Amino acid sequence: MNGSAVTARRLGLINCHDCHLLVEAHQVAIHPRCPRCGAHLHARKPNSLARTWALVWAAIILIVPANVLPITITSALGTKQADTIMSGVIYFMQTGSWEIAAVIFIASVFVPFAKLLILVFLLLSVRCRTAWRPKDRTTLYRLTELVGRWSMVDIYVVTILVALVKLGAVATIEAGPATVFFASVVVLTMFAAESFDPRLVWDVIEEDA
Ligand SMILES: [Zn+2]
Repeated sequence: MNGSAVTARRLGLINCHDCHLLVEAHQVAIHPRCPRCGAHLHARKPNSLARTWALVWAAIILIVPANVLPITITSALGTKQADTIMSGVIYFMQTGSWEIAAVIFIASVFVPFAKLLILVFLLLSVRCRTAWRPKDRTTLYRLTELVGRWSMVDIYVVTILVALVKLGAVATIEAGPATVFFASVVVLTMFAAESFDPRLVWDVIEEDA
């Protein structure tokens, strides 16, 4: 690591998570709150690894019903058709709507799985105390935060589809039970990414150096 670089923790300082004021660590033992904004002070996000693991596991469990149960139920002329996320993607591909198929696939299959895989990889890398490409791992972390904002796109797609089909009198479309699970996966992975402290990636390297 760069010898001239210094961290707040190394200088015996604690960085407030909310207002970024630097507080001397020995003061924190007496006053556990930030003197400027009143937030709880801790050198790193508390129980970051355990919290992130718990949220990631919950998301991994819920991603199963999100993909296996129907996300939309379409009724047209007396027949009902339940579609899962993947069968929806295949349906749009077969009917030539490549753009919609791509949006649904990227937003609801690729992004959630990629995000969970990245988080599991980051968690394992910190647990194994690896010194492997910390910069790239930090970029991966930034990626999970970046895509997190777009994860709700799929729910919007379903809502728009419902609205579009409701306009036509012949067919009706309803959101299926998978939507609840899907939304839970999105929220859980957002919280998981939020509870992971990317500084842990660098901490283990510095501690082992
Ligand atoms: Zn503060």
